[in-house]
Amino acid sequence: MNTGQQAGSEKSSPKPRTKNLGRKAWLVGEKAFQLMRDFGVTPTPNNYQLWYAFVLGENKDLFHELEALIAETKGGPTDGLCAQLFDKYFGENEEARLIQQTNSRVHGELEKLLAQLRTAEDDTQRFGNTMEGYSGSLAKVTDLDSVREMISGIVEEARIMESKSRALEGRLKESRDEIDKLKHNLEAVRAEATTDALTGVGNRKLFDRLLAEYTQAARESDKPLCLIFGDVDHFKTFNDTWGHQIGDHALKLVAHHLKTQIGEAGVATRYGGEEFAVLLPDTVLPTAANMAEQVRQSVSKKAMKSKATGATLGKITMSFGVTCFDPKESPEEFVRRADQALYRAKSEGRNRVVSDPVPSGANPASRDGYRVL
Ligand code: GH3
Ligand code: MG
Ligand code: MG
Repeated sequence: MNTGQQAGSEKSSPKPRTKNLGRKAWLVGEKAFQLMRDFGVTPTPNNYQLWYAFVLGENKDLFHELEALIAETKGGPTDGLCAQLFDKYFGENEEARLIQQTNSRVHGELEKLLAQLRTAEDDTQRFGNTMEGYSGSLAKVTDLDSVREMISGIVEEARIMESKSRALEGRLKESRDEIDKLKHNLEAVRAEATTDALTGVGNRKLFDRLLAEYTQAARESDKPLCLIFGDVDHFKTFNDTWGHQIGDHALKLVAHHLKTQIGEAGVATRYGGEEFAVLLPDTVLPTAANMAEQVRQSVSKKAMKSKATGATLGKITMSFGVTCFDPKESPEEFVRRADQALYRAKSEGRNRVVSDPVPSGANPASRDGYRVL
């Protein structure tokens, strides 16, 4: 296919160097936009960064992965697939960049705030000195006019000080509001960095983090912890039949069912591609298996409809593997057992839930949780 590799090898006159670099950037940028237009990819800053890197071709892994996706999806990868690739190749850097940016703005605000407080301190000091001066002078004056003059001086100074205090109060409030805004920004960046852009559930990064946290907490508290792995059945065929856009829509639907059924009981994440993982703290195996079963049923019952024509677009089904954490095992082993149960669900005919059997020597406190559905 006609990818961007040519842009990098474009012949150009040897001088001047900066002009050449600029010309190359234009060529790469134009090619990236052209590809995004051809494939119907939305020209968001993230997508532009991804396609620019693709055309540049310096990151070989990214280049080959996107090239394979273009071949596989025929009409070009969807925004959902692009978002996954962006996350994979630039996600970490992007999060770090945004956090760094917010941090430096908070730092700037703090500097401003400190400068204001220092000025206020100087003003208060000056006011104090002036008042001391008046106090000293008052003891010496005897005539009424001088006393009257001094009193109006004191009143005037107090008025100036009061208006300065009011201005400072206003500026302090502005700074506080700005810092509050930045705090919310930072929380939004953190949430965005752990959210899957396509489906809105947590991403793999969140899963990895929570897996470590929850297994540690389960070990310390001796409370049960369950894991559900769910994978869409024959999704490749679904994409081939209905197209990748509808495929993306199906994944959003799966995420919606997961969120609805799991609610506050656990955290649903997209483990990768068409595979989802749900961590359920303080939940025993039969309850977790029952939740997986509810999701399985609601997904399999829902026929997707075309918004434009109302025509039925076919159904999807999902297979699930469910397991309960054994405090003696590693988090990796826990995941491996859930994956094995999912594999069994696939090999036993798909569209079903399989619970992992009792591991030998499981902790008696959570043994209740090990029961095959
Ligand atoms: P199985 O029942 O064994 O799981 O079969 P399968 O076809 O679902 O599994 P396979 O691993 O062969 O194919 C997974 C497919 O999921 C291929 C890939 O293109 C598709 N896929 C992964 N991520 C996305 C996505 O974000 N959007 C769309 N539309 N498809 C995706
Ligand atoms: Mg699948
Ligand atoms: Mg899969």
